Amino acid sequence: MIKNIQEEILRLKKETGAVILAHAYQSKEIIEVADYTGDSFQLSVAASKDDGPLCIMCGVHFMAETVKILSPQKRVILSHPCAGCPMAEQMKPDDILAYKRSHPSCKVVAYINTTAALKAVCDVCVTSASAVKICSELDAEEILFIPDCNLGSFVQKHCPDKKITLMQGGCPVHAAMTAEDVAAAKALHPNALLLVHPECPPEVAALSDYTGSTTGIMKFAESSAADEFIIGTEISIADHLAYKCPDKRFFALSKKLICPDMRLTSLMDVYHCLKGDGGMEIVMDDELIAKARVCIDEMLRLG
Ligand code: 13P
Ligand code: SF4
Repeated sequence: MIKNIQEEILRLKKETGAVILAHAYQSKEIIEVADYTGDSFQLSVAASKDDGPLCIMCGVHFMAETVKILSPQKRVILSHPCAGCPMAEQMKPDDILAYKRSHPSCKVVAYINTTAALKAVCDVCVTSASAVKICSELDAEEILFIPDCNLGSFVQKHCPDKKITLMQGGCPVHAAMTAEDVAAAKALHPNALLLVHPECPPEVAALSDYTGSTTGIMKFAESSAADEFIIGTEISIADHLAYKCPDKRFFALSKKLICPDMRLTSLMDVYHCLKGDGGMEIVMDDELIAKARVCIDEMLRLG
């Protein structure tokens, strides 16, 4: 049944010229029909280069917005209308503008997991894969990093010459990880290496053998000589790695590492988007697109 739907999706894709973008947290059956799969940075780059007239984003709302900002002439459909990232709306544009007024020499760095309205008032975007490089190369000593204070702390550790101010925000899924979760996972799998996403709290990152983006974690596990890994990011990544590296064993750091928003999209949602009766089209006004684009273009230039 799944194979039949996948074949129908591939047929409709050809007929419509649609491009399917899938974040790495999506299910295996969606990734199998996607044109591009990857972390937030890879998807942004793919979106900036591909010229298909219709993009279907299997992920969350800010990712579809990013595609629209980079390609306003295209139709961009978010595969499931309710898939949002709770972190994206944690800060208010007015608060950022007020901070900028009182700290004129400070640059504001926005994690890509933010709304377009927030991006529009920031200086540069980063993803977890590009945050350290971009912040270290930014021509400012003072940085306000929003919204994820765990990723911000990770950046501060790797950019000791910068003065990074953080606000209280973050990913509810990764931020729930604790040193106790690490101790419990290591007790079950004492020989496994611990690989974690920088959205996890610093106390968890400090116990890891590697901290990095989704793609960074996957590359580390694939190329490592070790054969057991505890994966400290969304549980889907442990599954994908198990398929990619059948001779290695992957264990989720915790059963709590499930992002309900990333799980919303099903293969049938993708099918309905292609049929024209599903998903949600991203509509944004030109002024917002132009303002938010400055911040994303700066990320692509520096990243
Ligand atoms: P990356 O894709 O940048 O690793 O981020 C993980 C994430 O939480 C996506 O929402
Ligand atoms: Fe947002 Fe966290 Fe889900 Fe990623 S995993 S989409 S940051 S809530």
